[in-house]
Amino acid sequence: MRTGRRVFLRMAGRAAAAATAGAALGCGGTREPRRRLAIAIDITRCTAAAGCRACIDACHQAHNVPAIPEARHEVKWIWTEPFERAFAVDEPESLADALRGAPVPVFCNHCDNPPCVRVCPTQATWARGDGVVTIDAHRCIGCRYCVAACPYGSRSFNWIDPAPYVRPPLATYPTRTRGVVEKCNLCEERLADGGLPACVEACPERAMVFGDASDPASEVRLVIRERRTLRRKPELGTRPQLYYEI
Ligand code: SF4
Repeated sequence: MRTGRRVFLRMAGRAAAAATAGAALGCGGTREPRRRLAIAIDITRCTAAAGCRACIDACHQAHNVPAIPEARHEVKWIWTEPFERAFAVDEPESLADALRGAPVPVFCNHCDNPPCVRVCPTQATWARGDGVVTIDAHRCIGCRYCVAACPYGSRSFNWIDPAPYVRPPLATYPTRTRGVVEKCNLCEERLADGGLPACVEACPERAMVFGDASDPASEVRLVIRERRTLRRKPELGTRPQLYYEI
């Protein structure tokens, strides 16, 4: 646990340094537009239907996500849903046959208007200036209001001690404890080191594009602008920042 605390403090220090650097560059300030991190996923290239789990395995290994066999205790950061469950598309006849029933990778949408953040009584979860919705597990009191508020099921609660189910634990990332909530953090620790989210990097089909959607020259912005994309439950006004190319 001491090691976990040290790792957490090191990550917090890096995040603070990144925030300071961002402020110096005007990120989140008034002089320049703030960054808005987003991911575009081309589900016509995703091969989850053929058994690929590269994005899930990379994410869960990178973040010590426990593999708990009992469904009621399951903890997940990224998983798949059948296309029709992930999206309520009004015009199924216009969909390619390959998309019907196809497994689609889903995870926290890092919503621009996140209901999970509004309900947290201890400010243990918040949206950073670049849009990443993050959690401080040390401030989480386990009330699970955020779990109930998320309309996408993106948050998991640790009903039991997850440590025995993390094999092998990665020393560079903290494990969580019983009684706290966790979810995808858009690999904020990797972003702080200049890296890509693990899922994006691991995809063998290069089906995911990550970047700053507020930058008109970014590849992710180009995809959003030029391609047909869907977001999950847009009618709720949460403004998800995961875009699915179909
Ligand atoms: Fe919050 Fe859920 Fe949106 Fe993620 S997907 S920001 S957990 S409401």
